[in-house]
Amino acid sequence: MSEKTPLLSGQGGYGPVPSGSGYPPQGGGYPPQGAYQGGPPPAGAYPGPGQPQGGYPGAGQPPPAGAFPGAPPAGQYQGGGPPPQGAYPPPQGAYPPQGGAPPPAGSVPKYSGDMPNDDVMDDPNAAESQPTAPPMEKMDQIGGYSNVGFNANVLPPPSYEDATKQQPPAERQAIQNVPTITEQDAREALLNYVSQNCCYGKGAAEDLKFTDLKSTSAFHYTLETFGEGRSTCWAYEPYTGQMIDGPQNGTAPGPWDIAASPPSLFQDYVQHFEVPHTASVKPCHDCFSSGYVRCHRCFGRGRVRCSSCNGSGHVTRYHNGEHRREHCTWCHGDGRRQCYTCHGNGMVICKTCGGNRNLKCYIKLTVTWKNHVNDHIVERTPLPDHLIRNVSGQIAFEESNQKVWPINHFHEREINEASMRLIQNHLFPTERVLMQRQRVRIVPVTQCMYKWKNTESDFYVYGFEHHCYAPNYPQTCCCGCSIL
Ligand SMILES: [Zn+2]
Ligand SMILES: [Zn+2]
Ligand SMILES: [Zn+2]
Repeated sequence: MSEKTPLLSGQGGYGPVPSGSGYPPQGGGYPPQGAYQGGPPPAGAYPGPGQPQGGYPGAGQPPPAGAFPGAPPAGQYQGGGPPPQGAYPPPQGAYPPQGGAPPPAGSVPKYSGDMPNDDVMDDPNAAESQPTAPPMEKMDQIGGYSNVGFNANVLPPPSYEDATKQQPPAERQAIQNVPTITEQDAREALLNYVSQNCCYGKGAAEDLKFTDLKSTSAFHYTLETFGEGRSTCWAYEPYTGQMIDGPQNGTAPGPWDIAASPPSLFQDYVQHFEVPHTASVKPCHDCFSSGYVRCHRCFGRGRVRCSSCNGSGHVTRYHNGEHRREHCTWCHGDGRRQCYTCHGNGMVICKTCGGNRNLKCYIKLTVTWKNHVNDHIVERTPLPDHLIRNVSGQIAFEESNQKVWPINHFHEREINEASMRLIQNHLFPTERVLMQRQRVRIVPVTQCMYKWKNTESDFYVYGFEHHCYAPNYPQTCCCGCSIL
């Protein structure tokens, strides 16, 4: 899932955090007192409009004509000069002069830049130019974000105190036990298993004599660590007159100072934010703020060679035993025709700005919530361990906290050791740990020993669902089996 939302005000919305476990922790922890919370900065800190920090970056002059294949000649360049001092921020739609809306239909300028000397062969599948990121040197210098490029830059969290002291909880939940099964349960489980295998005969399951049922327990330990990662990059989008929150509104908050809450705990989620006070409007670099670029199909000529007659204007046809030269009906003998893509103008709408001539550039913060899950299974019969993972059992123990303490009181030592080891290994240096959860499930496993005719064998019934595992079932091909 991914969703772009406006910056939250930092109030509420965290979800089911147990009271007292405290994220954000109270005092001393995160966030530091006075840190940016997404709300308005304190009075006095706001520099106010009319004090532009560097003002509109202006983007300079277009390059000399001919330097860029799609560049209109100098003189046709529209917009891009810096506005008068103090004019920033612009009233909506006032600057850039043509900004905010694509040029009206019918006003497509004629292409007059570089183009091939002759019409090109028509290729309806000629590759369109794709949107490109603005050049890095045109991006504003934003305090604290000087290393940001157009690719995601992962930012490890600043060091912070854990909300919980690393002490074992004074009182821990008691470990619960699981019920055992009867001979009737075991036989029903086996009959069900046999019925799911079309070639198996059910006679053995009906007639076998149980010699022993050995109830054992499998233990399934799971550790989850729910972490938050943050990365930033420059982003751009067509400028259509939307609000611009630039550096003149204040200092940009640090990437870890922006309040963001996951929609729910222990679930992966990605959310994007615009970092406050980093936005600006730049003339589109791809079309030099004209809204149009050279047509990719006719390379600006507005016409292409006729593909039917190869540009000659006539075709040779064989008719009544002789070759005859005829006018090409496709181009009416002209050898060329109008380009269908640009309708003869030689220019098409710029993909980068969508024809809006200007771009909004800003630093984008991407917050990624990830649930890391690892587990360990203790199962001591020949039943394959992985079968335990997907059946239900008794939750014998469950604990969640910002950092959990390894289990040390479970009667199965291997579970205590697995808890210790997995917790030690659950370190994610590029993430802030928001919450951990550990859980032990006890899954009943019954080894059912039986005698049938001269065979002595066994099968296993496991999980509250009474799933059956019987690899040695004696009647695996019933009489008269005719399955293709
Ligand atoms: Zn033709
Ligand atoms: Zn064209
Ligand atoms: Zn453009």
